[in-house]
Amino acid sequence: MKKQIINVFCPYCRKLTQWNLNKWRPFCSQRCQLIDLAKWTANDRDMKK
Ligand SMILES: [Zn+2]
Repeated sequence: MKKQIINVFCPYCRKLTQWNLNKWRPFCSQRCQLIDLAKWTANDRDMKK
């Protein structure tokens, strides 16, 4: 039986990335994960002003 490879689009840069082998999922890389996290943290800070 073949292992099914699932491809997903990175929510940040929209690059196609493999879900199974990716430890940064749903992002394509650590960079995209950190950028997205930073974005949310910034939004949260804005709301508390
Ligand atoms: Zn990405």
